[in-house]
Amino acid sequence: MRPTAMLAAVVALALTGTATAAGLKIVTTTSDLAAIAKAVAGDRAEVHSICTGKEDPHMLQAKPSCILLARNADLWIRIGLELEIGWEPPILDGSRNPRIREGARGHLDAAESALILDVPTSRVTRALGDVHPQGNPHYWLDPLNGRRIAGAMGERLAEIAPADAALFRANATAFQQAVDERMFGAELLKALPADRLWAMTEDGSITAFLADPANQGRAAGWLATMQPLRGQQILTYHRSWVYFAHRFGLVIAAEIEPKPGVPPSGAHLRQIAESARQQGVRVILQEPFYSRKAADRLAVETGARVVAVANSVGGQPEASDYLALMDLIVKRTAEK
Ligand SMILES: [Zn+2]
Repeated sequence: MRPTAMLAAVVALALTGTATAAGLKIVTTTSDLAAIAKAVAGDRAEVHSICTGKEDPHMLQAKPSCILLARNADLWIRIGLELEIGWEPPILDGSRNPRIREGARGHLDAAESALILDVPTSRVTRALGDVHPQGNPHYWLDPLNGRRIAGAMGERLAEIAPADAALFRANATAFQQAVDERMFGAELLKALPADRLWAMTEDGSITAFLADPANQGRAAGWLATMQPLRGQQILTYHRSWVYFAHRFGLVIAAEIEPKPGVPPSGAHLRQIAESARQQGVRVILQEPFYSRKAADRLAVETGARVVAVANSVGGQPEASDYLALMDLIVKRTAEK
């Protein structure tokens, strides 16, 4: 290459900036989003998460190090639905990075691609506790949402770095197929397309399908492990397990928090102990970062088992990526 041509090539490279994806910087608000982003971006990006997965994501404090991370980010990915309302604005404002401002191409709100539950039908007031007015933000525990988020990330990365669009889309598809396989097992996926199977878990018709002698033993994965628990009532500490419960057909009898973000009173605990006994509740699900005191007391009073399990990647050592997190939650919930 002649020196002038070489110079032109260097200039062209500099001008395209992030279009050469090798050095993309992705910052996610939570570790679950980071895990999925790593799967989709592969070696074309450096991915950092603000949350580690060990803390309560509602309560994070924005530190100067978070602002520094955001300053150089090409893509910011958040959960949205006000999960990060207490700490995302100071980080984005402090970063002075116009590429990741809300509404910019470098700002991806993962909620836009997810199926959302608990959308309030009446006006939300502070009297209801820490209720999120656009719906429940804990949607990443529905593996169907993990799948949908990966698709949205693949598309946004393809827009930001078109040179690698095919790679991002292929990575997203591979992640989605891995989720399908962990959810249903290879055998069931040979019988029916994944979309059909997900729809059957949504409308509940999967139960009749699996009960058909012709389909006996065909399911594997999370579906097969959780199927015996379908219809069971459970207790949870925070209203953060609704998506997991919804996908696997568990019924949440009550939350230990009387309102989201409000610790339980003795009277509230007595009331839910009574109803939990009546409903035959066997499992109490909660994140490791909440106090176990109330759950342990309820366990003694009702005979239910406390399952303190990470609900984010990194929350416990075994939850090393998104699939491993779901593996862990399914295993811990279903074990006797
Ligand atoms: Zn919450």
